[in-house]
Amino acid sequence: MSELKKEDAALLAKARKVTKQAYAPYSNFFVGAVARLSNGEMVAGTNQENASYPVGICAERVLLGTAATLYPGVSIDTMAISYDSNEVKSDHPISPCGMCRQSLLEYETRTGAPIRLILAGQEGKIYIVKTISYLLPFAFNSNELI
Ligand SMILES: [Zn+2]
Repeated sequence: MSELKKEDAALLAKARKVTKQAYAPYSNFFVGAVARLSNGEMVAGTNQENASYPVGICAERVLLGTAATLYPGVSIDTMAISYDSNEVKSDHPISPCGMCRQSLLEYETRTGAPIRLILAGQEGKIYIVKTISYLLPFAFNSNELI
């Protein structure tokens, strides 16, 4: 944490804190994501579960929907993602699931700017990824549909 730039450390601290807002009574796995947009605004998301499991949605996609609604067309500079749990230690970086990787990649494409990721637990190692496309090589994208 001490090696991070000040604004990145602040973003990660917010992602760690916002895990408290997750609704995860089934998995007890609380995910928080906070993004700094290119216009300087901050947007957050947390996972929201449901007794009908497929209805739940990940923190990253809650964040993307919120960002697209509040600030349409504005790119995301950096997104910090963290988690907490009642059952496992939160001591290593978390990584977006496959569905979120696809959604993040499309957000990058539609706003024309890479989304830098800061991935971490409540403690331990922190990974920084320059663009979501590194996490989804050979991705399916809209070019396939034209
Ligand atoms: Zn996900």
